Amino acid sequence: MTNNALPKTGQAWDALEARMREMAKGDVKWRDGRTGLYIFNAGEDVARVKQAAYAMFSEENGLGPAAFPSIAQMEREVVGFGLDLLNAPAGAAGAMTSGGTDSIVMAVKAARDHARAKRGLGKGLNIVAPTTVHPAFDKAGMMMDIEIRRIPVKNFLADPAAMEAAIDSNTLMIVGSAPCFPFGLIDPIEALGELAERKKIWLHVDACVGGYIAPFVRMNGVDLPPFDFAIAGVSSVSGDLHKYGYASKGASTVFFRTQEMRDFMTFDAGPWPLGRMLTPTLAGTRPGGAIAAAWAVTQFLGVEGYREKQRVVTDARAKIEAGVTKLGFRVLGAPQLGIISFTHEKADALALYAKMHHRGWFTAALVDPKALHLMLSPKHNDVAHEYLTDLEASLAEVLGGATEQMTARYAH
Ligand SMILES: *Cc1c(COP(=O)(O)O)cnc(C)c1O
Repeated sequence: MTNNALPKTGQAWDALEARMREMAKGDVKWRDGRTGLYIFNAGEDVARVKQAAYAMFSEENGLGPAAFPSIAQMEREVVGFGLDLLNAPAGAAGAMTSGGTDSIVMAVKAARDHARAKRGLGKGLNIVAPTTVHPAFDKAGMMMDIEIRRIPVKNFLADPAAMEAAIDSNTLMIVGSAPCFPFGLIDPIEALGELAERKKIWLHVDACVGGYIAPFVRMNGVDLPPFDFAIAGVSSVSGDLHKYGYASKGASTVFFRTQEMRDFMTFDAGPWPLGRMLTPTLAGTRPGGAIAAAWAVTQFLGVEGYREKQRVVTDARAKIEAGVTKLGFRVLGAPQLGIISFTHEKADALALYAKMHHRGWFTAALVDPKALHLMLSPKHNDVAHEYLTDLEASLAEVLGGATEQMTARYAH
């Protein structure tokens, strides 16, 4: 990096807009549905609503609920909507955060302080989680000096018996995902809930990528296993509005079974020259725009709107599932939501990934096991056929390449 002095004189917006459009030319073509990662494209109408709401409250600050009762009300309503969707009991509580990592770090902080207060735990704490949980838990562990014990999965799912064997008297939390990001599969949360209750340990369900799709997929008639506060052993749940809630980036939610548990998340700091500072989460300044956009999108879609969007997502997944199976791929587990991973016996997934990338598809790939990965949004239903056509061509190239190499080897 080099020092880059600010221009001496400022430029007009028109010129800046043109320059930014120019910069964006090298970006992935997400508006055409070419990403299976980073973007949740629910269409133009949703985009207009969130952008307008974000712009309307871009200056307001969620740090000051007394100054901005509007933002405070929008947050309360959004949190209430999430609690209701996730079967929270009366007295449950939550907060908005800046993202899934933030929500997870906050849940771990609350669980740690709760364990110290209620179980007398001190230092040398650990969290027991399946290998598939998001690295946000490692970040929380790094920050709070907590060991993260990653336990191998069984059939791609958390293995409650193996997790139980890893629990000791310093285990402050166990974790399951609904679903996990690598495979899009919902861990056996009921069994983990039973384990948590029996051992009297906090269970966090990471529904960052599932919290705002799974309830609607269930309403659409899919038989999903229970994964939320309906299970008595679940203490906290994270759910990202900026994923399948289709809100603008910078919006997530974290929920707790009781207000008392949520109170352990609060930072009560001071003294400093302004006296005492109380914040519900790590953030000081909180973007009013992200809260407003989340509120506006949830109100714009409503239950019917979300059900429709999520039906399109699961339709796209089913199309891709059928298509890749026909091409000889094996789907990892039995995904029911918007994420799918698949692997091919004869074709190296990372070679396929490179071919697809060359054709303009920007997706994730798994390295263990090697597999292609897609996180689908409504837009993908329009391009599923195009994806499969490109995948077929890429597969032929990779298999053809493999044959050529083998022929070359035998020719020697
Ligand atoms: C996306 C995701 C996270 C992290 O969320 P960010 O908003 O990217 O910080 C955590 N857990 C799961 C399962 C996720 O899919």
